[in-house]
Amino acid sequence: MVNAVVWMRNVLRVHDNPLLHWASNSDEVDSVIPIFVLGSSRGMGAESRESDNRIRFLYDSITDLDKKLRDEYGSRLVVLQGEPGRVIPLLAREIASEGDWLVCDYLQDPVSRREVASVRESVAEFGVETRAFPSVTTVLDIESVVGDEAYREPKSSSDIDAILRRSLGEGPDGCLVPEPLGRPADLKPDTSAFDSLSESDSLSGLLVSKDEIAEGASVLGVGEPYFPGGESEALERLKRKVSEMPDFVRRFSKPSTMSTNDPDNPMEPSTTGLSPYLSTGCLSVRTVWHECLQANLSSDHTKPPQSLIGQLMFREMFYLLSRSVENWDDDVGNSNCRPIEWGEYDEDLVSAWESGMTGFPYIDAMMRQLEATGWMHHLGRHAVSCFLTRGQLWQNWKHGRDVFERKLVDSDWALNNGNWLWLAGVAPFSMPYYRVYNPCPDSKSSLNVEAKEAEFVRHWVPELASFPSRYIFEPHLAPIEVQESAGCVVGRDYPHPIVDRKESRRVNLELFKESLSRIA
Ligand code: FAD
Repeated sequence: MVNAVVWMRNVLRVHDNPLLHWASNSDEVDSVIPIFVLGSSRGMGAESRESDNRIRFLYDSITDLDKKLRDEYGSRLVVLQGEPGRVIPLLAREIASEGDWLVCDYLQDPVSRREVASVRESVAEFGVETRAFPSVTTVLDIESVVGDEAYREPKSSSDIDAILRRSLGEGPDGCLVPEPLGRPADLKPDTSAFDSLSESDSLSGLLVSKDEIAEGASVLGVGEPYFPGGESEALERLKRKVSEMPDFVRRFSKPSTMSTNDPDNPMEPSTTGLSPYLSTGCLSVRTVWHECLQANLSSDHTKPPQSLIGQLMFREMFYLLSRSVENWDDDVGNSNCRPIEWGEYDEDLVSAWESGMTGFPYIDAMMRQLEATGWMHHLGRHAVSCFLTRGQLWQNWKHGRDVFERKLVDSDWALNNGNWLWLAGVAPFSMPYYRVYNPCPDSKSSLNVEAKEAEFVRHWVPELASFPSRYIFEPHLAPIEVQESAGCVVGRDYPHPIVDRKESRRVNLELFKESLSRIA
């Protein structure tokens, strides 16, 4: 009897799941045991600093996957809590024998690579062979692309396009992305193995039941979250926002999407809102890619970098860079980060930014949306990251990166660091550092703001709910009678701006220029 323990790290799905597909089809495997480990590297356990939104999303995703495995395959998801390097060898000791398999998804970040190396060594003692499948989180096989002699670090959409075409071949519209895999036919459940696990003494206290997960999710919030977790939700959203909306896909141009969400509905993202599902592996990137291709093949459509496929290409680009650039998440020893001399950490400034109390309503609305929902539109992220760094507050991008990492439901190590580097103006792929966003945008701003009714700001900054639209993005400029009649006096009901936006911009551009001249 050969067991395959399928360790799902960032692949919380049944569709297009190469691990389950292999285990299901392999003649060498008699029984499949799907597991998930809630360790601190996934933000769990005592050291967890994750926001409730993130943890709830993960718990809901685990619950959804377990239900699918039970209802459709007579299997289940074994959830263990602790560090993988400790709990997986304990599991192996309990159930494994010579010739068994441990299969997992390859992840490119250094912590995950170290983790799998150490687990591989420990389970080998029990005769268990480990196999990490590439191209589960990404379209590309990251290790093989980065290891190729011809690899040059991509800096632009055309660089990543060339890499994709070289690695995958030419398709009818861009590179040839492999078709997603179907669902596994049978997951060879072995109920006696599941029962022996639940009765095991050495695993007692480490196994987490489905009721405990559901209970954990329920204490983190009542009602429907902004983004409910799980593969079922992911596929439903993909259908609603992409598959059933071919015109939306064909016309999609990222720079034109509204940062203040749908004009008729300030709660509905103007983009797909698929990032939480892609970043947790509830949704396969190949599946999204093919749904976009399907829409595009039938008619004229936008092209990368603006198009939806262009967005997925940026995703691949950051995954590659996060593997090939040393110290990707640092401002020291990182070849993609120019050493700008940021100001000293200022707790008051950073906490006003984080809590949405800067006195700049657009910035505050974005940051409060992040706190409440775990999500923010891409251009909103542009605005708040520019504001914190080279725009107004002159703080190191890593402070903002940490806040995003903790709060975003789509938090992703490769993408979060890559985009912060981009927006701080320090990377080879950054926008020019002197292109600073006005944190008090009007309807003509490239941040694409609904300014006429300003519903988004009213929703997220309720102190300003009755403010006239004319002054709502800079309420301190409103005459005091206007402030009083709107029930919001600046300095009493809502903060004064924490900095003078024009002066801080002027000073910071000078500082940036000086820092650059010292590097040159
Ligand atoms: P869509 O526009 O519908 O795009 C579809 C998919 O393409 C996204 O779901 C995402 O997977 C990918 N994508 C889109 N834009 C980018 C991009 N700029 N870089 C890489 N991939 C992209 N995205 C994350 O998924 N996780 C993060 O931790 C993250 N941190 C960010 C931090 C900053 C400072 C900034 C400016 C951007 C960050 N992004 C991050 C990128 C981007 O903002 C989000 O992916 C996007 O807003 C998600 O919304 P969507 O799914 O509706 O995107």
